[in-house]
Order: sequence, then C-alpha cells, then structure tokens
Amino acid sequence: MKLTEYNKIISANWKMNGSYGLVDKFLGYFSQNFKKINNSRAVIFCPPFPYLSLFNDITSKFSNFYIGAQDCSTKNNSSRTGEISSQILKDVGCDFVILGHSERRILNNETDKIVSEKILRSFENNLKVIVCVGESEKEKNDLKTFDIIKSQLENSLIDLCSPENTIIAYEPIWAIGSGQLPTLNEIENVFFDIHKIMDKKYNNLSQNKFKILYGGSVNPKNSNTILSSSKIDGVLVGGSSLIIEDFYNIINFD
Ligand code: PEP
Repeated sequence: MKLTEYNKIISANWKMNGSYGLVDKFLGYFSQNFKKINNSRAVIFCPPFPYLSLFNDITSKFSNFYIGAQDCSTKNNSSRTGEISSQILKDVGCDFVILGHSERRILNNETDKIVSEKILRSFENNLKVIVCVGESEKEKNDLKTFDIIKSQLENSLIDLCSPENTIIAYEPIWAIGSGQLPTLNEIENVFFDIHKIMDKKYNNLSQNKFKILYGGSVNPKNSNTILSSSKIDGVLVGGSSLIIEDFYNIINFD
C-alpha cells in the first residue's frame, strides 16, 4: 500500500533499548495478534541496529508492518568506522529511517544540513524518511514554535521529498519522556501550520497530503484521543513502545 493510503501510522522508537529476549517476545505476540490489527494502519518498528533484521520475520508475513532504523550515515558505504549507511539499512530489510530526532540534534550536534544529507542518502537507497521537528520548552514559552518548525522543515527537507517518501513527526522536545503533552488543540494547530509550510514549500502540490505524526509521552491512556483526531495521521511512540501490551493497545485503538 502507498504511504498516503494508510489511515494511521504508528511507529515504535525503541531508542537504545531492547534485547534479543524482548524482540522474541514482540515477534511472538505480534505474530499471534497481528491479524486483529486493521490493515489500514501501518506499524513501523524502529529497534536498535543489531535487532533490525530480526523483524523481517514479521514484515514478510504482514504487508502493513515495516522496519525502520533510528539514524543513518550522511555517506554511502566507505571507510567510516562505526557508522551505518542507508544502503546497509536497506539490505537488512529497512523501509524507513527516523532522521533529525531531537536526541540526535542535541546530543550529536546534528544540524538541519546534516539531516538533509541523510535524507538524500536515504532516498538514493529507497528508504522512506520520518523527519522529526519540534520546539524546546523555552521556545514554546517564547512563542517560537512556528518559527522553529518552519526553519527545521525548510532547512532539512530536500526537493525530492514527497508525501510518498517523507513523514513528518512533530515531537515537542519538552513532551518527550516527560509525561507532559500539548493539548489536542495545540497539536492540531501545529499540524495545520506544518501543512501550510509544506504546501508552500512544495508549491501546493502536497495539499495536506504529507503524513504528520505526533510524538512525545504517548501512552495507551492518551493515544485514543490523539489517534481519533482526523487531523492526526499517527504517532511516534518511545517509552510505551517497549511494553508489548501498551504498544499493541495504542495500535488497536477504536
Ligand atoms: C521519542 O523520543 O520519539 C518519543 C516519542 O519518546 P516518548 O514516547 O518516550 O516520549
């Protein structure tokens, strides 16, 4: 199915967590319960690099299940000890890669320019990208959310981005792992702004077609409200994606 045809997209970002044991449990649980998941919902699993290929077991059985990496190199295969290229990610079974996550922007000094290089490498190797944007608490309090997001989108996205190869994830930095969430109204307002920026940047061709996910402290208690909004295309889930039943309940909202 094409990316734009999915009704909701739910992605798990395990960050630097997990184990063979946890992967096994997830694969067992999802193999048994996956048929109960509405197939207009795409599920993207983003575990740490060493576990990526283990998820092929499930993607080969369920067409709406995908594997995503949490980062890639700015370079193609070359002498870059410790780095992982988008070509290798494709080879091990990835369809997606998360880029520009705030943890990478802050802890690894990743700039919009670096994110844009990674987007290009990803497209060269047929990976779709989930590009994260979001403001800090101070920027929110200073009413800078729109400016920050606009500048992140304008400077990191490239001309080749389209609604079929690029998902935007709005992740306010202050909401990540904190248990604090924007109101539904605030999220919808930011999504409205993102669509406006994308429509302008892509000459109105996008017409609200880019999928936008919300990320930051999503759990089974608040996910129903978020996912029930027709303006929100899905969620990027960190902490709660490590708990099988929680993640399954988030995907299987009514
Ligand atoms: C994330 O970091 O992508 C994220 C959404 O984390 P959490 O759900 O734990 O806030």
